[in-house]
Formats: sequence, C-alpha cells, structure tokens
Amino acid sequence: MGLFKISQGRSLWMVHFCTGCGAVEMPPTMTSRFDMERFGIAPMATPRQADVLLITGYLTVKTLKRVIMVYEQMPTPRYVIGFGSCTVNGGIYWDSYNVIKNLDLYIPVDLYIFGCMPRPESIIDAFLKLRKMIEEGKANKWKDYVERYDWYKQNQAKLFDVNKWRVQK
Ligand code: SF4
Repeated sequence: MGLFKISQGRSLWMVHFCTGCGAVEMPPTMTSRFDMERFGIAPMATPRQADVLLITGYLTVKTLKRVIMVYEQMPTPRYVIGFGSCTVNGGIYWDSYNVIKNLDLYIPVDLYIFGCMPRPESIIDAFLKLRKMIEEGKANKWKDYVERYDWYKQNQAKLFDVNKWRVQK
C-alpha cells in the first residue's frame, strides 16, 4: 500500500449535493456530536477542491443534470457515494415519472449507503469503507467514466432528450 494512497484515503474532502430529506443528517455528522473531521473528512466549498461527491437523496432528471456538472468539475481521482435508498433505486419515489432509478447509468457510483434515512454512523462508515477501497486500489469507478465516456454520455443524452418529455398530440 503506497504512502500516496494512504494519504488520499485519510483526507477525503467532500462536496455534498443535498437533493433529498437525508441531507438533514449531515449537520450532526459534520459537527461536534459525530465529528467526521476526526477521520479527515471535511466539507468543501466547491467541486474543484473535492474528492468525494455525496448525493444525499433522490435525484430527478433536472437535478441529475446539475449533479453531472458538479461531478465533471471535480479533479481525478474522484469518488461518488449515493446516500439513502432513493439513490439506490428511487426509494419511495420508485414509480415517479422523473426520479432516477439507476444512477450508475449516468455517473459511476463507488458505493451506496442504504436506509431511509441513513444515520450519521452509517455515513462515517461509508467513508471509512471508501478509504479502505482507496488504500487497496479498489476505488476505480472514476476511471470507468473516462474509459466509457461515450457510453455515459449516450445514456445521459437519451434521458435528457426533450422530445421524450414532450406531450404527444
Ligand atoms: S432515502 Fe428517504 S430520507 Fe433519503 S431522500 Fe429518499 S425518502 Fe428522503
């Protein structure tokens, strides 16, 4: 295990995109009660300074566009954590016409945190799992986005195709 990977895993700087109700668990995770900074996990002001994109809840077609924009501004290596059941399969909004059910088709997700909503302990646990994956060289989803960029862009284009959403007369 290289020193570079150990250092990387121990300074996970995060940008969190608060899309759903799970975001309410972030303040206690970040502040003194659970204090995630003791693990080297710190919130950043912009995607350009961040290693980890935390998506905290359901994504609609509209918000996914913004999430992709944020993801593409992050420097590599970059990691994505889906937070809450809604990011896994749409959760309680699974039958909504505009909620994303399969996030991996549009951006590469390194790991998911199950639950509605996940507790601060689960969030910290997910970061520690990500740290382990980085140290073991297993957090490589960002490379998939580079190598199969056309595939991701095709899926995104199909979803964002305005004609698909037009009312047929
Ligand atoms: S998983 Fe639950 S808490 Fe999280 S956004 Fe969905 S409904 Fe809200």
